[in-house]
Amino acid sequence: MIRKATTHVNQNEGLIFERSQPGRIGYCIPSLDVDEVPIESLLDGALLRDDLPGLPEVSEVDVVRHFTRISTWNFAVDYGMYPLGSCTMKYNPKLNERVSRFEGFAASHPYLPDALAQGNLEVLATLEKCLAEITGLPGVSLQPAAGAQGEMTGLMVIRKRLEARGDARRRVLIPDSAHGTNPASAAICGYEVQTLKSNSQGGIDLDNLRTVVDDGAAALMLTNPSTLGMFEENIEEVCRILHAAGGFVYMDGANMNALVGVTRPGDMGVDVLHLNLHKTFSTPHGGGGPGAGPVAVSEELTPYLPYPRIVAESDPSGRTKWKLDYNLPDSIGRVRAYHGNYSVLVRALCYIYALGPEGLREATETAVLNANYIAHHLKSDYEIAFDGKAMHEVIFSDKRQSKFGVHTLDIGKRLIDYGFHPMTIYFPLVVPGAMMIEPTESEGREELDQFIYAMKAIAREAEENPELVKRAPHSTRIGRLDEAAAARKPVLRWKPVRTAAKG
Ligand SMILES: *Cc1c(COP(=O)(O)O)cnc(C)c1O
Repeated sequence: MIRKATTHVNQNEGLIFERSQPGRIGYCIPSLDVDEVPIESLLDGALLRDDLPGLPEVSEVDVVRHFTRISTWNFAVDYGMYPLGSCTMKYNPKLNERVSRFEGFAASHPYLPDALAQGNLEVLATLEKCLAEITGLPGVSLQPAAGAQGEMTGLMVIRKRLEARGDARRRVLIPDSAHGTNPASAAICGYEVQTLKSNSQGGIDLDNLRTVVDDGAAALMLTNPSTLGMFEENIEEVCRILHAAGGFVYMDGANMNALVGVTRPGDMGVDVLHLNLHKTFSTPHGGGGPGAGPVAVSEELTPYLPYPRIVAESDPSGRTKWKLDYNLPDSIGRVRAYHGNYSVLVRALCYIYALGPEGLREATETAVLNANYIAHHLKSDYEIAFDGKAMHEVIFSDKRQSKFGVHTLDIGKRLIDYGFHPMTIYFPLVVPGAMMIEPTESEGREELDQFIYAMKAIAREAEENPELVKRAPHSTRIGRLDEAAAARKPVLRWKPVRTAAKG
């Protein structure tokens, strides 16, 4: 069979198993210079296979080329814009990667005694200090491994504080626009979830809030800017209402990309916040992790944070010594082994140091400017969900394109043909046919213009040639999949077509 030569992303690459040729190997080892011993004399016969497990027999070149080629099939932020909203798929500076691989960071053992890990502990303490400054909340724990775990940790802290007051409470209030992890975290912490309906501007309805907040409400969990990309302008009043009833305000900080260096949740009255370091402070996160979801809390809640905490002591010569403190009787305990996802924490500190305060603020302002640039230029072609000032992301719907039978899924798929990753689709749930776009600060004007051009072209196609859009993508190896079948009957295991030669 003649294989097609390399044609970059769309070439036809089979399975590595299909490249297998009997007897082909990818290594060579020196011949034996000791007496050969039959394996049966060393191992229990029951542990020995009769057959090889059908491993492919391939050369080193076969393996390297195969995996290098398929690695190009994945879209990546290093190829182009990744406009997924809510996820903040920003560029990850290569400097962070270099630094996180330094041997002293990458190879130190988490069980090193404090005295031998002073540099590592100082990195953690410094990052805690930076995050406290950025959020305006003095107590920071770096342990949680993701945003969702940060939410759980923050709610456990609130719960512990309320129990210490002898007032455990039952409910957590969550707006209907929230990310799905919010109600899930509240439920895991044993709370009932009460959903709050957003007002016409996608914000919290204060009158409604006043009627539902009582002494059974442990906390309000809100995302600011909201998942609709809008800043909650009544945030201070929201905090006053909760505090007056003895409850706490939990802010989901996944969208801090729109606030860093400009304003601080602690100053707004927020009690607990988690950050997604992998969204706001770089770190590549398209492949599902690892990430980090530190929590920052007010002074009142600090004693309840997970242990160990990093503390500074002075040695007799006056030098700072870092130490892990486990003696914290009010702490909720550990939420994760060791010190969290250490390499992600190093990347975040590197990002913060490389940009500095002015740079962080500029990143925020650019992210907001970019989202508004897109909102401004696409408003004439797509229905915008909320016509206020967007923060870091903007939401359109397929309302106008639906008239021609073209829906959000089709528009997302067609975007692939124009060289872009699709935006977030059908989320948030409160906007029917939602298309959520977050360009982030990483994109320059030319790239944004390309994206706007592609979206405008698709809007025109939807009107003039809807079938073209409905059958997209056309430029990929595989077109539309039957998504229901793929979810119900996934093919996860390769079945060997022949067994490799014995011996
Ligand atoms: C991403 C996100 C989360 C969850 O964070 P993970 O790190 O994926 O667990 C929570 N809330 C919002 C608003 C998010 O965008």
